[in-house]
Amino acid sequence: NVDSSASPGSDDDETPVGKRPKPVTATEVKVNVSIPEAASRAAKTGADGVGLLRLEHLVLSLDKTPERYIRDEGVEAYIEELMDGVQTVAEEFYPRPVRVRTIDAPTDEFRQLEGGEEEPHEHNPMLGYRGIRRSLDRPEVFEHELEAFKRLYDMGYENLEIMFPLVTDGDDVAAARGHMEAVGIDPDERDWGVMIETPASARGVDDIIAEGVDFVSFGTNDLTQYVLAVDRNNEHVSDRFDELHPAVLEMIGDAIDDCRAAGVDTSICGQAGSDPDMVDFLVRKGITSISANIDAVADVLDEVDKVEEQLILDSVR
Ligand code: PEP
Ligand code: MG
Repeated sequence: NVDSSASPGSDDDETPVGKRPKPVTATEVKVNVSIPEAASRAAKTGADGVGLLRLEHLVLSLDKTPERYIRDEGVEAYIEELMDGVQTVAEEFYPRPVRVRTIDAPTDEFRQLEGGEEEPHEHNPMLGYRGIRRSLDRPEVFEHELEAFKRLYDMGYENLEIMFPLVTDGDDVAAARGHMEAVGIDPDERDWGVMIETPASARGVDDIIAEGVDFVSFGTNDLTQYVLAVDRNNEHVSDRFDELHPAVLEMIGDAIDDCRAAGVDTSICGQAGSDPDMVDFLVRKGITSISANIDAVADVLDEVDKVEEQLILDSVR
């Protein structure tokens, strides 16, 4: 159960254990957290926050689809399960920011769970009913997720940030924003944003910015698969899956330019954020933060500092 006696902020004057000294310039290094049990190890990396907490991992661990869980155990139990998991991470990192992504599992993953027989059958689940698409189509389930965030905000976890996956355009973002408002979260008061994972969202990032997002985060696992038309889970074409392909980098680079011009933070939370060549590219483009796997944080910190030092040297030469 959620411990409502938790007191975020009580020890926020102390520098978190392992936090690195102020970086030379501004690129922050965050960490991806898969499950709440990994939070304490993740926090000890010294990362500046959590760049991605995948909410669907919490749900998949309940062994039932959200719809079946709610039917069997009730709405309150569902909301409390979500709150419990997110609170563990938010508490561990407080006051460092924790970016929680709303549920994004394809129907073939949900099908493994109890209740999975009710999932729609799809030829291309990765192009189908997942992420914000499913959420907007099932607002009653979606709003329970948002209700969990709302209650955590009310408990003082102001370090939570909400992120929406697989958006296509400004309309998706406006609709998601509307659901935040419907549960009583003021989007102008909280930090929230979206993942840039579809080519349309990268190219149309100005329309997304216009909806008032505070940040965007590049989901390079999906963005690469959609830009190159290479299934990220297909071993027969895995040698063609290249996050550093010029077409992918151009799309990311242009979107960073648009966001910087508008004062919107940029981040990466795909696997490629742990790759030194990608880090080099992103720091030079002026990305706000990079989120890496737990085991890669130390190397990414070193790489970021190295590139930033080089940039400073270049600027004075
Ligand atoms: C991504 O697509 O890069 C991402 C981080 O999301 P996921 O891997 O969960 O699809
Ligand atoms: Mg993705």
